[in-house]
Amino acid sequence: MQRWVEKIYEHSPVSLQDAMISVYGLKLARIRYAGGYKRYREELERSQYFSECALAELQDERLRSLVRHCYDNVPYYAKLFRELRLAPSDFRTTSDLPKLPLLAKETVQSQPGQFYAQNYTNTPAEIVSTSGTTGTTLRIRVDTEGRRKNYAFFSRFKSWTGVGPSGRTATFAGRTIVPVKSQRPPFWRHNLAAHTILFSSYHLSEKNIPAYLAKLCDWDPHLIDSYPSSVEALARYALAYGVRAPHPRAIVTSSETLRTEQREAICKAFATRVFDQYGGAEQVCFISQCEAGSYHIHPEYGVTEFIPDEASDPKSACRIVATGFTNMAMPLLRYDIGDLAVPGGTPCSCGRRFRTVEEIIGRADDIIRTPDGRRVGRLDPVFKGLQTIRKAQIVQEDLRHILLRVVPGEGFRPGDLDSIRYELEKRLGRDVEYTFKLMEEIPVGAGGKFRAVLCLIPKESFPIHRKTDGERLP
Ligand SMILES: [Zn+2]
Repeated sequence: MQRWVEKIYEHSPVSLQDAMISVYGLKLARIRYAGGYKRYREELERSQYFSECALAELQDERLRSLVRHCYDNVPYYAKLFRELRLAPSDFRTTSDLPKLPLLAKETVQSQPGQFYAQNYTNTPAEIVSTSGTTGTTLRIRVDTEGRRKNYAFFSRFKSWTGVGPSGRTATFAGRTIVPVKSQRPPFWRHNLAAHTILFSSYHLSEKNIPAYLAKLCDWDPHLIDSYPSSVEALARYALAYGVRAPHPRAIVTSSETLRTEQREAICKAFATRVFDQYGGAEQVCFISQCEAGSYHIHPEYGVTEFIPDEASDPKSACRIVATGFTNMAMPLLRYDIGDLAVPGGTPCSCGRRFRTVEEIIGRADDIIRTPDGRRVGRLDPVFKGLQTIRKAQIVQEDLRHILLRVVPGEGFRPGDLDSIRYELEKRLGRDVEYTFKLMEEIPVGAGGKFRAVLCLIPKESFPIHRKTDGERLP
């Protein structure tokens, strides 16, 4: 929305805001679901049941055409290929990709224009922002057809939940649809064009949650589409106080790492299943859960590689490196997303031959480092069984100091902190000093997202295959 429209919106009564949201929703839908969208969606409906061999062929063909496009039109790649004495003909299959070096986020961030395809400069496109390294923003240029392709993948994923495109939906996302200073409900606005109510992710306090739950029960959505932390806040409240929660057919989560104990609380409170999705503004990788619960890598979206990272804990964790097929305006080859995952092995019972991921661990820079050089990714078990803590955030200030922000819930005792300290020491050791801070609420970060683990130690220049002795740690 443009700034002057936002100003009018902010000062309008709720009914007018609903109307504006609906008109805006209709406009967005007309852009998103136009052009090649229908064709992409139909193709995806068919290709999800392709054989492994057919999927490999599809990827090889897309890769060849992508490399040719990069070589011919993208300044960064034209130069890189020249320097490495490579030609498009050197890339026949996806197994040729390692001929190229990994692409770091910082490289894209420092010279975004070098990645713009010259034959797409006049093509309709939008700039999508995502968090880069060192707290700055990374801006990705995505052409409109590329966005449509992305929506087609998201629609296919939603179809796996069993909810049709016209199902009633409740959405919690990063948009500020309700003025922050608002103290009273409604903390939601209607998008009549899409059978959707947009709920604010910024007003989920203990005081406001009963109104959210009542509205959700009233709306009775088929689908809740949310950040894990938003829907978790509702779930925890409903469970703690025995307040009625709706029973949607499915809950879709994305944008933040979904932790095991979050999933359990959400499933229990809403008596439904959670389907988690992993992707990103860079549009290089799309992973989502199917009906059988497996995390699948959507192979038509791009090539996803897993690069072993010796310093990771668990040892099986790998860095996600991906090459996207959907965004021709700013293509990225072998892009190191900065997240860790554990690749899967066994085929899924749903019948799709897509590769699986055992576990998505999350942002590599949200991983706690220890003085002895370990990197610990999963800390949610630290809070396991502690129903008296409503929300917590682990902040690593430096190698030897960890701050725990804790929002106490019903029945909280100071002794509960000892239990957390004990569990942390078991995982991170006694060389670390733990400080606890009890808070009424933990503020959410950029885009309304909540990060359960926050590592403030500056990232190493390039931590791949780094030795585990910690000598390069700051
Ligand atoms: Zn499956």
